[in-house]
Amino acid sequence: MIIVMAAKATPEQIADVERRITEWGYGVHPIYGTERTVIGAVGVPEADKAAYRESLEALPYVEQVIAIIRPYKFASREFHPEGTVVDVKGVPVGGKQIALMAGPCTVETYEQTWESAQACREAGATILRGGAFKPSTSPYSFHGHGVEGLKILREIADKLGMRVVTEIMDPRNVELGCRYADILQIGTRNMQNYDLLREVGLARTPVLLKRGMWAKIEEWLQAAEYILLGGNPDVILCERGIRTFETYTRNTLDLSAVPAVKELSHLPIIIDPSQGTGKRSMVAAMCKAAVAVGADGLLVEVHPHPDQAVKDGPQSLTCPDFTQLVSELKPIAEAVGRTI
Ligand code: PEP
Ligand code: MN
Repeated sequence: MIIVMAAKATPEQIADVERRITEWGYGVHPIYGTERTVIGAVGVPEADKAAYRESLEALPYVEQVIAIIRPYKFASREFHPEGTVVDVKGVPVGGKQIALMAGPCTVETYEQTWESAQACREAGATILRGGAFKPSTSPYSFHGHGVEGLKILREIADKLGMRVVTEIMDPRNVELGCRYADILQIGTRNMQNYDLLREVGLARTPVLLKRGMWAKIEEWLQAAEYILLGGNPDVILCERGIRTFETYTRNTLDLSAVPAVKELSHLPIIIDPSQGTGKRSMVAAMCKAAVAVGADGLLVEVHPHPDQAVKDGPQSLTCPDFTQLVSELKPIAEAVGRTI
């Protein structure tokens, strides 16, 4: 970190700061200017640097403290410059192949999930999505079938040779999730649920970490750091739109998060255009754009009868829509050196 001393800092005050950072184990590299002094502190990679920074910033003779190392190590690009491919029981996420995750927002019935899954599989999806535990802004909404939903997903995915991605909201259900699912989804509302992040960090099932709708990319990568630090190396990031002043779309889908994450992190990143736009008419276009900007996969809501969907019908593609979309994605993937 770099410590900018206040213009009026005395030699004693400068020495005091140097003493503090030496005690923390940093190397001290001061530049004594005529106007003010700047001190470079180097070393101590594993400490709680935010706490050091805050304690220095609390001194009246320190003007500013600038962090030069990112606050996440295991999620950083430098940690794995070649990029990570998450192996979901033989289905790669990251690397050349674009992962297609599709299915209904919510598991409603066996038949509805089967119809959606079968069409998605036929079109080329390898990972079945579907909610068994549904987060909801309203306590009066449908909250999913729970373990019955997990069983339906597992049975159908096994019949079709697919993997399962599903949301887990409660740390007490992580073990259950590992039993039935191949990827544990952490929803946008839980991105900073640190107990849940720690719990999935202890699991050995891959995690799909959605970006909090309010979260900066740095906060998102810090959330991923919790999981990686727990010993689970298989984290997939998912951009699903953030809150802005815009209300035409349900969220503002931040596609620039893809190249940003590629610069900052080695983790794969996928796009959820369904929550991202909230509008069926926009889903295909955003999928195409996502592939073009280098996303490693897509998470798409597909319902056999969107008008009858219990949740998120307006943003769900029909089964023929999805088939059509995948065929339109192929030339785009090819143009950017990927396969679907
Ligand atoms: C979903 O995938 O259906 C969902 C609830 O996602 P999010 O957490 O992004 O809102
Ligand atoms: Mn949904």
